[in-house]
Amino acid sequence: MHDPNCIFCKIIRGEIPARRLFEDEHVLAFHDIHPVAPVHLLIVPKAHLATLGEAQAQHEPALGRMLGVAARLAAEQGSPDGFRLIVNTGQVGRQEVMHVHAHILGGKEPLGSMLARPKSS
Ligand code: AMP
Ligand code: ZN
Repeated sequence: MHDPNCIFCKIIRGEIPARRLFEDEHVLAFHDIHPVAPVHLLIVPKAHLATLGEAQAQHEPALGRMLGVAARLAAEQGSPDGFRLIVNTGQVGRQEVMHVHAHILGGKEPLGSMLARPKSS
């Protein structure tokens, strides 16, 4: 259910502080500690799940809720005209915190490109 060494599990349990925004039985949302956009929020499932690559049917209610609440949180926090949802997954996805999380990125102005295109040779 939780991993005692996981930083997001510690936030969920209130063992370390975070700027919490929303919580229900499935998910917790809070501000990213190092924002890369005017609005940068994280939504996590409350039950520990290291990566989307390990998700099973039992995780789907929480994963669905993460998508379901994203637009409202983005709008409430200053990104009413859209946002970007990113779930970095595994080594290729450059996931650093091994507890599934969706980044909500936005603001008043359009964001930069999602990825730089590789230079053609
Ligand atoms: P990722 O590269 O997708 O694993 O991103 C992990 C994110 O977690 C980064 O954007 C970090 O800034 C964020 N982060 C790490 N520790 C904390 C924390 N204690 N509170 C809030 N956000 C955090
Ligand atoms: Zn965890």
